Amino acid sequence: MSTLRLARAVYDSIRTHGEETYPHECCGALLGQSTPDGWWVTRAIRAGNTRTDSAHNRYNIAPLELLQIEREARRQGLDVAGFYHSHPDHPAQWSTTDFAEAHWLGCSYVITEVARGEAAMTNSFLLTGRIEEEKQFVQESILLED
Ligand SMILES: [Zn+2]
Repeated sequence: MSTLRLARAVYDSIRTHGEETYPHECCGALLGQSTPDGWWVTRAIRAGNTRTDSAHNRYNIAPLELLQIEREARRQGLDVAGFYHSHPDHPAQWSTTDFAEAHWLGCSYVITEVARGEAAMTNSFLLTGRIEEEKQFVQESILLED
């Protein structure tokens, strides 16, 4: 089983972001380093939710913003380890839309439930598979580090 090592400050900032944008979804990127057991995430970058059609249950990071995120990661000697978003008043489980829109094989997708404005459960899912047709979300454990 894969483990997502998450700096506590990053974990807190993801959850705070979700509370701030409630009842809309928040989203962002996770930067870190690859380890034999999974990603070690030391930074989160907030992204604007570009979905205005239904921001409460859809999220999206604009291509230009993604490019800036990748550039920022490189500048810090880190990789894009994954992405996060919130589920306002919905469980921290991936939706069929989340799965369809996930294309970064090998990356971690973190989902935080925000229940009535307060961050609740946070889960992480590793997108496994060598090619898009084989991809799968596999839940991984989250290890918080101070
Ligand atoms: Zn979702």
